[in-house]
Amino acid sequence: MNATATATGIATLPELLAHALAIEVEAEERYALLADQMEVHNNPQLATLFRKLSEIEGRHARQIEQRAAGLDLPEIAPWDYRWDDADSPESIDMTSLHYLMTPHHALRMALAAEERAARFFERLVETADNEDVKNLAAEFAEEERAHVNLVRELLARHPEPDSDWDEDMDPPVLQE
Ligand code: ZN
Repeated sequence: MNATATATGIATLPELLAHALAIEVEAEERYALLADQMEVHNNPQLATLFRKLSEIEGRHARQIEQRAAGLDLPEIAPWDYRWDDADSPESIDMTSLHYLMTPHHALRMALAAEERAARFFERLVETADNEDVKNLAAEFAEEERAHVNLVRELLARHPEPDSDWDEDMDPPVLQE
């Protein structure tokens, strides 16, 4: 047995679809959240963009559901998902959502998540024995790579702000 194959532990098409679906649904939610965050940050442009990304990921999720129709998808408890870390590859750490998060920080977060998702499927392409799993994982990997590239382009347009970005110039005032 190959150590990397054990790491992904995905051997069948239904298992792959269940994981891919979880990844896409979380990505859909993540981008909706980042869009909200950008609205708070008064960046309607990026808010619109994150909404669009949320729609794209949501559409992928619906496509996977259609593909899975008739297949018996395994019910995988969140803790049984074969991720390296506790969260799914595309999910974000909610605790790092700062109310002053800048577009740059939001995009870095998105990039990290997309890269993890891409690597997840790429590792599967390398290690899967099942041809169907390999082929579909390759398709998903390609989609995630496209997301990585898109977020990279956006990052280039939103460089890192000054290091004192989180010094609150106008802190919220508690209402008595
Ligand atoms: Zn993605």
